[in-house]
Amino acid sequence: MRSIEVYYSPKQVSCPDSDSPSPRKPEWVVKEWLYRKLPVRVIEPVPVTRDQIALAHHPRYVDGILSCELMNGFRGRQKEVAQSLPWTCGSFLSAARAALENGLVACSPTSGFHHAGLKSAYGYCTFNGLMVAALTLHAEGRVRRVGILDCDQHYGDGTAEIIASKQLDWIRHISKEYVDPDEAEPFLARLPGMVRSFADCDLLMYQAGADPHVDDPLGGFLTTEQLARRDQIVFTVAKEMGLPVVWNLAGGYQEPVYEVLKIHTNTMLACFAAYGSD
Ligand SMILES: [Zn+2]
Repeated sequence: MRSIEVYYSPKQVSCPDSDSPSPRKPEWVVKEWLYRKLPVRVIEPVPVTRDQIALAHHPRYVDGILSCELMNGFRGRQKEVAQSLPWTCGSFLSAARAALENGLVACSPTSGFHHAGLKSAYGYCTFNGLMVAALTLHAEGRVRRVGILDCDQHYGDGTAEIIASKQLDWIRHISKEYVDPDEAEPFLARLPGMVRSFADCDLLMYQAGADPHVDDPLGGFLTTEQLARRDQIVFTVAKEMGLPVVWNLAGGYQEPVYEVLKIHTNTMLACFAAYGSD
């Protein structure tokens, strides 16, 4: 691949009054990658529909969020947040389709999915774009089995709740919180095996979180070098297996935010290093 496809639209960005940089991060990270002349190709995503979101969430919850009657993951009812949500989920679904199509990889510069449950918003997450994409592609017959490797610092409780309540035995979900830097090397040693455990999946969704960094206020146990090694392991092992990967940014809360962007840039560099020669 001469460039990595990145599914981004300014419409997926919102600016709620929040401590989290996540809703503005897609714009910043894409600008940073273009400024650094990274080999990325920015493509406009297709927004998801209300009915596609309702495959993963309770219909009354979906309508309440989209009409701003219910509080979103930022504990507000901002119209611009509601309007951005079909685009953030759409970015992930479009990138997932691209990875299935090219058989290798695609990127969605998104965050704020994995705490969103069946009918609940929590921790900056309103709709679970991972689950919306998995359920949409499964309903279309595009995938039989989906893997989710959630390497955000925090447990994907919303993802787990939706999988359990809908009894989605065709989704394999790995998400675990580590806090001790002593766990870093054992984690990296186990990581190739974790990726290989998705061998029967048609698609791997990889949350390449920046908040596992040791300096993250909501993190973390990995150094910058170890995070880069994490990404390299995931991409190279998945590629060896012929397992298409769609990846996104997930969390990252260091200040200044440039520290977070540097980690996401390292993920993109690892991605290109793994797939650039194909
Ligand atoms: Zn997190």
